[in-house]
Amino acid sequence: MLSGRMMDFPLTIAHLLERVGSVHGHVEVVSTLPDKTRHRGTFAELHERSARLANALTKLGVKAGDRVATFAWNHRQHLECYLGVPAMGAVVHTLNLRLHPTELAYIANHADDQVVVVDLSLWPLFDKFRGEIKNLRHVLVVRDTGGPAPEGTLDYEAVLADASPTFDPPALDENAAAMLCYTSGTTGNPKGVLYSHRSTVLHAMIAGLPDAIGLSADDVVLPVVPMFHASAWGLPYVAALTGTRIVFPGPHLDPASLVKLMAEERVTVAAGVPTIWMGILQLLDAAPEKVDLSCVRTMIIGGSAAPASMIEGFSKRHGLEVTHAWGMTETNPLGTVARVKRHLRGDAAKELALRATQGFAVPFVETRHVDSDGKVLARDGQVMGELEVRGPWVASSYFGDEGADRFTKDGWFKTGDVVRIDAEGYVTITDREKDVIKSGGEWISSVALENALMSHPAVAEAAVFAAKHPKWDERPVAAIVLKPDAKADKDSLIEHIRPSFPKFALPDEVVFIEQIPRTSTGKFLKSKLREQYGDILVDKA
Ligand code: ADP
Repeated sequence: MLSGRMMDFPLTIAHLLERVGSVHGHVEVVSTLPDKTRHRGTFAELHERSARLANALTKLGVKAGDRVATFAWNHRQHLECYLGVPAMGAVVHTLNLRLHPTELAYIANHADDQVVVVDLSLWPLFDKFRGEIKNLRHVLVVRDTGGPAPEGTLDYEAVLADASPTFDPPALDENAAAMLCYTSGTTGNPKGVLYSHRSTVLHAMIAGLPDAIGLSADDVVLPVVPMFHASAWGLPYVAALTGTRIVFPGPHLDPASLVKLMAEERVTVAAGVPTIWMGILQLLDAAPEKVDLSCVRTMIIGGSAAPASMIEGFSKRHGLEVTHAWGMTETNPLGTVARVKRHLRGDAAKELALRATQGFAVPFVETRHVDSDGKVLARDGQVMGELEVRGPWVASSYFGDEGADRFTKDGWFKTGDVVRIDAEGYVTITDREKDVIKSGGEWISSVALENALMSHPAVAEAAVFAAKHPKWDERPVAAIVLKPDAKADKDSLIEHIRPSFPKFALPDEVVFIEQIPRTSTGKFLKSKLREQYGDILVDKA
């Protein structure tokens, strides 16, 4: 190798911690508390408090590589854990508070959590499984509701107050683990994904690019996506890099609270799953004149497909732009973003169609799709196959080496998403593999049907699933949630989508329900629909 090269400077979260103090100290962090009041702090305070946390954990006996879990809403203390825990060499493990206590106990033991930082407002939930965590040594309570820390626990604020504000980070290997996130485990047990310092920092650097998520020091970012899910899409780390003002929603995730927060805090970029934005769109449609969201530059939507009708509704009726993105816990999470390339602009309908795809890969993520034999398929925008990805922030195995069949011998991760890829690299998800509808040998895309059904004015949400069929094996059935006071029947819904589909792809049946069952991360839980309505066509035959 030639001599006279650059420094071998590790890409670590310790640098992000240093940066929030030394460069961005004046930047504000706003946290919504359970009583809806807002705490206002600065990055300078964030720096000092994260440093104190790092020192406190060392004092408590936490060693490099140990897991320190969080069980918390999105707020400044959670952000302190995001920075302070990895900076001292331990691994921050974000527990998903929407899971069942049995699953949480399984995950906490699988991760071998030794310390948990928990919100007092979540204590009743935590109390249901804390006794099951075998190697739990310390519980630090963030007294967000003001009451005293429960017996046998430590008060987070008192622990910080007792620790030194001067932090001298240990030498860290950039490939050491920094964060542990579990997939929701809709099939089988939840699996852990270990993010390294390097993967987190590289991800933040790329996610911050203008054509990826894109944040600058002029922005105000609202991560609605929970910090207990896939590092809140990396947004806290991007903001630490760029010095972006952060606004946290705390536990208030209903449309009215979010819209108020966005308007009052002059949010420019907000991010979350489609369900949240579906609610916001309905709210704005009902009373558009009431709120001024002119501050909002874009809303990043991902986690499940953002229907074209929603993207169009925001833009046409409210002048709001949606940026549609795809990712997974296993990809740190950002993989693709649906930007309309310059040379593809000009035709509104085509632009909308591109915005509704999952987009093309961000730099350093590579995509391909394969058939059931693993043969790489053509990028013709037609042929469907399983999406595989690789890159520096894509998992190369699961924590504890489970699920080895998801990793190919030639270094790709099998996403379980069924997609088309076109010549420009745009990826369109047609289904998750486990939800694919196979009707007489033909694959029918449930996502395409859902998008079309959701463009009906009476439909709030639509989930299409496979029902058993005596002749065709499986046929599509649509579960529909109507908007409040809206009316529609099966025939009018099918007529609405008929022009966009071949006859064989149209749903055989429509069931009207109050709510679509969901996973802990807000995705349609189609296995539940299949359980409940999977025999509906057999029963009728
Ligand atoms: P889990 O697998 O635990 O539910 P993840 O957040 O890791 O949680 O889920 C990743 C999956 O979510 C992807 O494999 C894909 O099926 C789905 N997904 C994410 N973003 C999108 C999107 N923009 N459109 C459609 N599906 C998406």
